[in-house]
Amino acid sequence: MSETIFGKIVSGEIPAELLYEDEHCIAINDINPQAPVHVLVIPKKGIPRLVDAAADDQALLAAGKVAEQLGVAEAFRLIVNNGAGAGQTVFHLHLHILAGRGFAEGQMAGFQ
Ligand code: 5GP
Repeated sequence: MSETIFGKIVSGEIPAELLYEDEHCIAINDINPQAPVHVLVIPKKGIPRLVDAAADDQALLAAGKVAEQLGVAEAFRLIVNNGAGAGQTVFHLHLHILAGRGFAEGQMAGFQ
């Protein structure tokens, strides 16, 4: 797999402020936030897409911990874009935590 920007952040080649780190993942602020809180949970393992991550659920569990640490555990939205057709632009699996603003009830997709 070719190295992505997130692979370089995980390896430390590109510096980033880490909001959270454990053995499985890191969390950083999104460079182009779509909500007052927009954090990316990035597994250290360079899995390209969710469908490539058969047994790698640790990062999903870590998202709850990150949300707690951010103080948004009561209400946050967790998004994974899988594939270019769904809006994935960085092919190193990552979870978006969005919080700090309202989300329309029943509204499913996207960052709106
Ligand atoms: P995707 O569209 O792949 O689900 O999400 C990629 C996300 O990564 C986008 O929300 C974009 O703003 C964010 N992003 C892209 N490049 C960088 C970067 O260099 N640093 C950070 N912190 N976020 C980035």
